[in-house]
Amino acid sequence: MNISEIVPENIKKLKPYVAGKTIAEVRNEYHPDSISKLASNENRLGCSPAVKPAVIDALESIQDYPDPIAEKLRTAIAEQNHVKPEEILLAAGSESIISILCRTFFKNGDNAVTSNVTFVGFFVQTGVRGIELKKVPVTTGYGFDVDAMLNAIDSQTKMVYLANPNNPTGTILAAEEYRKLVDGIPDNVLLIADEAYYEYAKGYPDFLPAMEYRKENVVILRTFSKAYGLAGLRIGYAIAHPDVIREMIKAKLTFEPTAAAQAAALAAYGDFDFLRKSVELVEKGKEDLYGFFDMNDVEYVRSVSNSVMMILDSEREAVDFTQGMLKKGVILRRINAFGLPNCVRITIGRESEMDHFKNSFKKVYGPKKGSLLENEQKK
Ligand SMILES: *Cc1c(COP(=O)(O)O)cnc(C)c1O
Repeated sequence: MNISEIVPENIKKLKPYVAGKTIAEVRNEYHPDSISKLASNENRLGCSPAVKPAVIDALESIQDYPDPIAEKLRTAIAEQNHVKPEEILLAAGSESIISILCRTFFKNGDNAVTSNVTFVGFFVQTGVRGIELKKVPVTTGYGFDVDAMLNAIDSQTKMVYLANPNNPTGTILAAEEYRKLVDGIPDNVLLIADEAYYEYAKGYPDFLPAMEYRKENVVILRTFSKAYGLAGLRIGYAIAHPDVIREMIKAKLTFEPTAAAQAAALAAYGDFDFLRKSVELVEKGKEDLYGFFDMNDVEYVRSVSNSVMMILDSEREAVDFTQGMLKKGVILRRINAFGLPNCVRITIGRESEMDHFKNSFKKVYGPKKGSLLENEQKK
């Protein structure tokens, strides 16, 4: 068999996902005193204590298929968002919802518009579907360029993807810019408003939740993977017009999300106390990190999500820095796959993890930029 003859060009072009190192791999390779995983924007506080008993309870009927539309959970989500249950779709994470959107709405020859620095999940899923992606360069402040995105829309455009707040930059579209984008998009083009960091962004004065300026062509994505701390269970949801949701349900995998994920999400969704603690930890951690970076002359982007992006001078520096930190047990994320080879993303963790970051930073980064390598060699 000649694999290359049977694989379509659009799949050949895709690059395999390069996962960050796991805690076990770092322990085995470098034997650091402790490990802080600040690479994947997970909730370092874990998840609500209500989750574990709910999952154990769900295991009692694990031989049965789950409810395909997760009625209980979707009713709870509908209530909190003041919409009808028919406006909600649950799936195995928002990445799955992006895939469902691609399967439901694209036909060959369609294209999509987004920015060149954003969540790779959208790059991948449009690539799998063989859809041309028009990537508009970010502004100098690493934000979405609304005018350029509107200009990129043509008669073949089916979707515009916006992550707000964005990943990896942590930036948001100011409320006025968001309204301009929504108003400027033709009725028959879907705006995908990915709000994976909604819970963190909610309190920021200039953040306009998509729910508050909603039209029939807007699809809002939220997830339980970040603030709710359920990344390992895979569950997220879309809020959209009932007609949009009805079509999407046809294309989703019938029995996603799993019964355990549904039970966990329902338990987590009602724990406002845990959510508040999680958001507060991140707020405090970001302020503290900004202060630390200012003192050490590090360039960074202020963030509305649960991570902060630091800007180094070159890809070489970014590689050396993340590698040096890894040896100290601090796992960070280089974001070359997101379009910024000279940048590194730091997830805000618990106080002890942030101390680990800062102490290791001093040894690896050195007092001044450009001395990365020397510092590594001296040890
Ligand atoms: C983390 C992230 C997601 C991932 O969501 P899952 O629900 O875990 O699939 C989606 N969008 C953005 C912008 C993210 O940063």
